[in-house]
Amino acid sequence: MLRKAWQSGMIAMARSPRIKTFMQNSRATSFLSEKYVSGKSVQDGVRRAQALMAEQGVRSSLFYMGEYVDTLDRVEENVENKLNVARALSETALDIHVSVDPTQIGHHVDPALVEERALKIAAEIGRGAEISAGQVHCLMFDMEDASLNDPTIRIHNLVQDRGYPTALTLQAYLRRTEADLRAQILRGSKVRLVKGAFAANADIAFQSRAEIKDNSRKLISMMLSPQAKEAGFYPIIATHDTNLHEFAIARARENGWQPGDYEFEMLLGVREDVARALAERGERIRLYVPFGHDWWPHAVRRIGENPANAVLLARSLVS
Ligand SMILES: Cc1cc2nc3c(=O)[nH]c(=O)nc-3n(C[C@H](O)[C@H](O)[C@H](O)COP(=O)(O)OP(=O)(O)OC[C@H]3O[C@@H](n4cnc5c(N)ncnc54)[C@H](O)[C@@H]3O)c2cc1C
Repeated sequence: MLRKAWQSGMIAMARSPRIKTFMQNSRATSFLSEKYVSGKSVQDGVRRAQALMAEQGVRSSLFYMGEYVDTLDRVEENVENKLNVARALSETALDIHVSVDPTQIGHHVDPALVEERALKIAAEIGRGAEISAGQVHCLMFDMEDASLNDPTIRIHNLVQDRGYPTALTLQAYLRRTEADLRAQILRGSKVRLVKGAFAANADIAFQSRAEIKDNSRKLISMMLSPQAKEAGFYPIIATHDTNLHEFAIARARENGWQPGDYEFEMLLGVREDVARALAERGERIRLYVPFGHDWWPHAVRRIGENPANAVLLARSLVS
């Protein structure tokens, strides 16, 4: 109950333009952006990805921040930055995912052009993958609130059907995800499973943390089943929940999956000790590495994921 109220409060803070402007311009909050964000420019993001690989053998998903934008200027800025990341990939021999949210590339401004923009970014990523000799860069679709499930899956499937490297995020808090996942397993897709950073009514969503965790286990079992392996499916288990890590590793070993046939993904600045420990055990790890100017909504959502992070927020407000 307390956790839910805390998280809702932080989501409201993430969406308030006035709080965002204040926080992003306050020097006292800069340690928050340093904790959760790699820097402002594409070069900052790529440099962090290179350091993570060189120092820890950890892969990255690069994310130019700025979701739910409602002006054409911001859409164009987002698309240009996604393209800049894709271009930078051709100069690196890394395996990088480029994360995108449909609302970043115009879902709320001109939805008819979202597919075109996604295809353009995917084509550039595909070119980067060819140039850097068989690396497995791909366009990863993040999943936003429930009103965007169908459009996001449709765009992912279109990009995949055109032969570009792509992946899709699905959320365990939604009841529909079991059916969506079954369809993606048959397509031999890459799917990133998360619990979900949103809430929805009981008719479409599981409500309690226990139910969401049970559904996560069920979905992980599907992702690491012999049928999924046979279909060429690639599982990405994105969680900081160590019980789910161990559950996934046990299912993988039972069904003949080796590290690298699947991977774990976590967020920059969150439980990085857990990520390092998994990497040391030989598991394939990826970190979600955001960059850009619009860092407050991302940082405050991370604070909202754990009430113990209240101390971080308090520190930023009193300094
Ligand atoms: C790579 C990645 C991509 C994501 N993409 C999406 C997306 O596209 N759409 C979407 O809806 N959601 C996305 N999420 C967010 C996700 O849905 C969850 O809200 C978030 O990951 C927290 O859930 P958890 O699985 O880590 O489990 P939890 O049960 O929340 O946490 C497990 C453990 O980790 C700790 N922990 C979790 N978060 C934090 C934190 N910020 N600070 C300190 N400790 C923490 C908890 O306290 C607990 O001990 C993504 C998450 C990751 C890791």
